[in-house]
Amino acid sequence: MTTAALDTVQAIAVIPGTPNSLHRTRVPLPAPGSGEAVIQTIRVGVCGTDREIMRGEFGQAPTGSDALVIGHEVLGRVTSVGPDVGKVQPGDLVTATVRRPDGCPACEVGQPDMCLWRQYTERGIAGAHGFMAERFVEHERFLIPIPPELERTGVLTEPLTVVDKAVRQADLIQRRLAYGWQPKTAVVLGAGPIGLLGTLLLRARGADVVTVARTPAPNHAADLVTAAGARYVSSRETPLLELGASLDGIDLILESTGASIAAFEAMQILGNNGVLVLLSLTGTDTHAEIPIDRINREMVAGNKIVVGCVNAGFIDFDNAVRSLARFDTLWPGLAERLITSRLAIDDFEQITQKTAADVKKVVEF
Ligand code: BGC
Repeated sequence: MTTAALDTVQAIAVIPGTPNSLHRTRVPLPAPGSGEAVIQTIRVGVCGTDREIMRGEFGQAPTGSDALVIGHEVLGRVTSVGPDVGKVQPGDLVTATVRRPDGCPACEVGQPDMCLWRQYTERGIAGAHGFMAERFVEHERFLIPIPPELERTGVLTEPLTVVDKAVRQADLIQRRLAYGWQPKTAVVLGAGPIGLLGTLLLRARGADVVTVARTPAPNHAADLVTAAGARYVSSRETPLLELGASLDGIDLILESTGASIAAFEAMQILGNNGVLVLLSLTGTDTHAEIPIDRINREMVAGNKIVVGCVNAGFIDFDNAVRSLARFDTLWPGLAERLITSRLAIDDFEQITQKTAADVKKVVEF
């Protein structure tokens, strides 16, 4: 008996735990099973998590493999479908969620982003190959249709889900307030892709937004912030505590700098009844001296909330698709300007590099 040779596709992978192991490889492309679709990759975004994985600080290969195909921010097109697929059809643009459930109570009710056991896998990150491959197979349950008019920005859906979830968490938490909470004054810490998408999202909701990053203006991120009607502040020119003192009641802070100290400074500027959403998965070793009495007292006296927030739910993907469309209406072409560099697959080695001017790098397939 002969077995048909499995199709293979070109992919970009690392050996998790081994710095500078980024390489090109070929991985098998299984035939789509029941409920599954084959997706041809159009482009894949590179984020801070990917860079950590490339430095060997994070990431886990699938069981039985040394290598991990990276990439979890994808835009692709369905090329074929297996039996019993109803949500997508060949020709459809799609993105995919990142996390795959582990059977815990949260995963079981469709909230793998709130996984209790933390035994989940994440495509391109933890225990499952990612999307930086010419084609991949995915179950339709994890596919999110992207309308054709979002072809240019659809690759930003996944990073946008991170802030869509953050703001949704704040909205859910603030149902505790009978006066009808709306984020009127918001501060976004960090002007990387997450900070910038958070800026657009909160501006689209009509909040006054101050986006804080280290590098003084002028720079590309500051231009994008200003174009969305938000204010850009360099923390080198205006320290965060000073900025906080100048603002009248900060309702919402999104922390996305990647530095833990910013989280503790943010606690000190949050307004009464305010929400601080922490989005940076930092290292584990930094120590600092912070004014714990003052922080604790003000958190208690002001009914303030600090909430950690990771990954995103299916609802956040649907909301992010809507947000992208809304951005295009409000600021035509602006979201696409977050994509500052487009690499061909042959130049994959350049994805490890990040210049000060880079916001979002994508690999084009
Ligand atoms: C991804 C999340 C993921 C997290 C931790 C982030 O870059 O956007 O989906 O949960 O990394 O692995």
